[in-house]
Amino acid sequence: MDISLQQVGYSYGRNTPFEKRALQGVDGTIKTGSYTAIIGHTGSGKSTLLMHLNGLLKPSEGIVQIGDTQITAGTKAKELKAVRRHVGIVFQFPEHQLFEETVEKDIMFGPMNFGVSKEESRKRAHELIELLGLPPDTAQKSPFDLSGGQMRRVAIAGVLAFKPSVLVLDEPTAGLDPRGRKEIMELFSRLHAEENLTTVLVTHSMEDAARYADNIIVMHNGHSVMAGTPQNIFGDEETLASFGLGVPRSVKLQRVVEKMIGRPLPVLALTEED
Ligand code: ADP
Repeated sequence: MDISLQQVGYSYGRNTPFEKRALQGVDGTIKTGSYTAIIGHTGSGKSTLLMHLNGLLKPSEGIVQIGDTQITAGTKAKELKAVRRHVGIVFQFPEHQLFEETVEKDIMFGPMNFGVSKEESRKRAHELIELLGLPPDTAQKSPFDLSGGQMRRVAIAGVLAFKPSVLVLDEPTAGLDPRGRKEIMELFSRLHAEENLTTVLVTHSMEDAARYADNIIVMHNGHSVMAGTPQNIFGDEETLASFGLGVPRSVKLQRVVEKMIGRPLPVLALTEED
């Protein structure tokens, strides 16, 4: 399901003394099957933008097109609900939203609320527990007896249980240690490749954007200021620097190696750990 943004603007607290413009003239395309990273400093509009990707917010101006549905300021709530099933958002610290007494029930909650049968919801829960690399006996445990990383996986399973075709991730590694970060990022990479899940990653990490994404949108002061492949974006160091962003170390390192051996390496082959 392609998503396109056409001249999207959004203001918080519209027509109040506290009105705050968060997005202006934002354009962008998220193609089916792509892995898009949205990068930019705190306050640049990333979170506001991602809430437009599944109709949690309606644009004050412009158009958000999600598959066949066009969302504008006048779109009715009923139409937004249909879109929400197709685009799943994993918010920051999603484990804070766990609440059921068992992991299985927590994962089943969403689909059952959308009319999926109990048996089918349970089946999905067990498939997801396996897919996300959690031990099978996790199903009957309380989510609150799990480690932080496991809790996060359960919360992610709760979003995947809707069978979204697009998965939107807001800083999904926040608060995890380096190993946990890598595991979660590799998990999303696998879901993207094996489940053909269109993926949108909102991140502060230039490294993650370079390593995992094939499409990057750069936000600055509520505007979309750059868009393209990681090669294009990180190849234009000067423009990036004008938005206070830098080229990740792994990309710099790769350039040094390429110079030494006199030929290009496969695109962005090195990681920071190398
Ligand atoms: P980012 O995710 O890149 O940090 P945000 O989308 O959270 O950026 O914020 C964009 C702008 O909108 C910022 O200036 C922020 O202060 C403002 N903003 C965010 N949420 C609200 C809100 N609920 N009410 C008013 N202003 C907000």
